[in-house]
Amino acid sequence: MSGSFLKVIAVSEAVKIAESIVPVVDSENVDLEDAYGRILAEDAVSDIDIPGFDKSWKDGYAVIASETVTATDNMPVMLRLAGRIPMGIGEDRSIVKGECLNIPTGGRMPAGADAVVMLEYTDEVAGDILVKRPVAPGENVICRGEDFKKDSVVYKAGKVLTASDIGALAAIGCARVPVKRKPVIGIISTGIEIVDVDTVPDIGQIRDVNSYLCSAFAKKSGCIPRRLGIVRDDCEELKALLNDAKDKCDLILVSGGSSKDLKDVTAQAIYGVGEVLVHGVALAPGKPTIIGKIGETPVVGIPGHPAATYMVLSVIVRHMLRKLCGLEKENGTLRSAKLLTNIASEKGREEYVRVRITEDGLAEPLFGKSGLLNTIVESDGVVKIAAGCEGLEAGEVVEVFMW
Ligand code: AMP
Ligand code: MG
Repeated sequence: MSGSFLKVIAVSEAVKIAESIVPVVDSENVDLEDAYGRILAEDAVSDIDIPGFDKSWKDGYAVIASETVTATDNMPVMLRLAGRIPMGIGEDRSIVKGECLNIPTGGRMPAGADAVVMLEYTDEVAGDILVKRPVAPGENVICRGEDFKKDSVVYKAGKVLTASDIGALAAIGCARVPVKRKPVIGIISTGIEIVDVDTVPDIGQIRDVNSYLCSAFAKKSGCIPRRLGIVRDDCEELKALLNDAKDKCDLILVSGGSSKDLKDVTAQAIYGVGEVLVHGVALAPGKPTIIGKIGETPVVGIPGHPAATYMVLSVIVRHMLRKLCGLEKENGTLRSAKLLTNIASEKGREEYVRVRITEDGLAEPLFGKSGLLNTIVESDGVVKIAAGCEGLEAGEVVEVFMW
């Protein structure tokens, strides 16, 4: 790609191209204890019936339900107490007509019994049990396999594992969990004026915000960030770094130098070691965005202004990272909110507007200089206005991508 102007394409088009070059990451097995928050790589299947035996889910008495039909407070049914069922592995027990067995929650149902009367609805009198309420067959009993049957799929691949999922995986014997490997994101900052955060910038210098911004965004997206350093607007230096990074990273982000100024070397460097597929996206801020690849490794050149960087991360890179991680759907980053005020928009052009979520949960559009860092600080997320839409009206429900 050459020429002195950017060939701008719509964000949705750029996202499509960006997603199409994202490779599939492989999977790895981790200990169940370490699987929280990871993405399940294979269906999780139960290795046993759960529960593995018919069990009581109340403290009480195992009975034959049909014998309790007439039981009331005034006219209790009297049953002979034949003993107590222990927890855990115990001898096989059974009851016959006229009997009951004391059973704890989780105790194994004796043969012959088909229900459990709760302790609260009984009295014990000289070794006999007075049952004061009837129970239906199956009442207070969990049958073998009622929770999960052996070989049934408990979770489908692609699920982000929550705390409750980890509990369920323990129940089905998943000691090692197949999860998607966390993709490694290489992060490069460019700019002769950029200094690291622990330095007080001299006049003309600026602290490296973007390495950290990109790194945090990668982490938030379930990836492992690798900050690869600051390059001083030198094409050869950047080419060497990109070449080295392509085999060590699953995706590379390069901040700064992505426009067409003489000092901007990112497109040239990517072009030198790989391909440039997109240079220019209809996004404000964020227009001079580059999408390319080096070998099979996708690379995104992001404009250096942090507000633009964050916009590009949020509306383009986010989809790449999701796909790279193996996630089908977005995971809790979208929120519906009613608009507080109208947003005018040029028909035909897709637009992204930053919004603040008010205390009442409304989305307030923030206008003003799109490049300032404080617009990121003050906003909570971004709303997309689709191409062909003449703007949005106050009260309309919009989807906000939360930062
Ligand atoms: P560039 O995209 O390289 O033309 O940079 C655009 C603006 O963003 C300039 O004012 C840069 O100084 C600034 N900038 C570039 N990289 C960074 C960075 N890593 N952190 C903070 N600001 C940056
Ligand atoms: Mg620069």
